[in-house]
Amino acid sequence: MPTLHLVVPCYNEEAVLAESCRQFVELLEKLIGKGKINASSQVVFVDDGSRDKTWLLIEKEASRRSHVTGIKLSRNRGHQNAVLAGLMASNADVVITIDADLQDDINVIETMIDHHAQGSEIVYGVRNDRSSDSLFKRNSAVAFYKLLAWFGVDLIHNHADFRLMSRKIIDALREYNEVNLYLRGIIPLIGFKATTVEYVRKERFAGETKYPLKKMLKLAGEAITSFSTVPLQMITMLGFIVFGCSLLVGGWVIWTALFTKNAVPGWASTVFPLTLLGGIQLLCLGVIGAYLGKIYGETKSRPRYFVERTVTGLPVQDRELVPE
Ligand code: UDP
Ligand code: MG
Repeated sequence: MPTLHLVVPCYNEEAVLAESCRQFVELLEKLIGKGKINASSQVVFVDDGSRDKTWLLIEKEASRRSHVTGIKLSRNRGHQNAVLAGLMASNADVVITIDADLQDDINVIETMIDHHAQGSEIVYGVRNDRSSDSLFKRNSAVAFYKLLAWFGVDLIHNHADFRLMSRKIIDALREYNEVNLYLRGIIPLIGFKATTVEYVRKERFAGETKYPLKKMLKLAGEAITSFSTVPLQMITMLGFIVFGCSLLVGGWVIWTALFTKNAVPGWASTVFPLTLLGGIQLLCLGVIGAYLGKIYGETKSRPRYFVERTVTGLPVQDRELVPE
């Protein structure tokens, strides 16, 4: 039986914490009772530098329930870092990350565990409708996925950070040393067998969203700049176009100056270098951008591969023992 850790990032969640804790612990006890997870399984609350009573509540829950652990970050580092802190601190066989606000349906956790038992290393929780979201959030989410796809970043649609990961995945995640972390982008890069489970996302149980527009835009920016060098390639493309145009314009300027009487004295010698230099500069920026993109890739020093399994042939003397 695997040990399960439920990693829960919390930022100013005093309004929901007691109820979330009760429901999470109840679920763990149910799963332990069914023999699906180990009795040492835990709910791990990660306090992301809350300014309200969240940490006090976590301490209180931990002191009276055996299945509760708390980790307090020194200051607010953002949801992704809080999740990562929980993942790195955990030594469980299976970790499920879930928000504190009970929006994600905890009843699919059992299905996730079942998928894991059948060999999935990652199980993504995918919401199958967004009716509980505001119109703005729904549209901005669609725009977000479209934009990222355009930049070449592949994400699991409608999946936030409600997912199961096995020890293998967490150990693989440890190999990614980048500081600007975007879990939803990295986890699919790791590979291994993955499945999805669908659920209906509910309204926040209490309190209000800790993801205002500013944080959402920051996350989108992070996703693009951490996974795509398309913006740099765009400079090169632009450079080529402007350079090509500048050659055409240059030809026209010289032709006008030499073969017609329309040119004002000094015009050609001003306009020609202007367009030419503009084109050359953008092209050079593009070239620099191409190398910058490479350097960026190198500095992230992402792991190049993970071995899923290996098979070895039987020694010759043992082969006769295996029926054909
Ligand atoms: N959260 C966090 N640090 C932050 C912002 C949010 O740990 O800086 C946590 C928050 O407590 C919650 C989860 O991340 O458990 C998701 O946040 P929220 O529910 O506010 O986002 P929404 O569901 O509105 O997108
Ligand atoms: Mg929420």
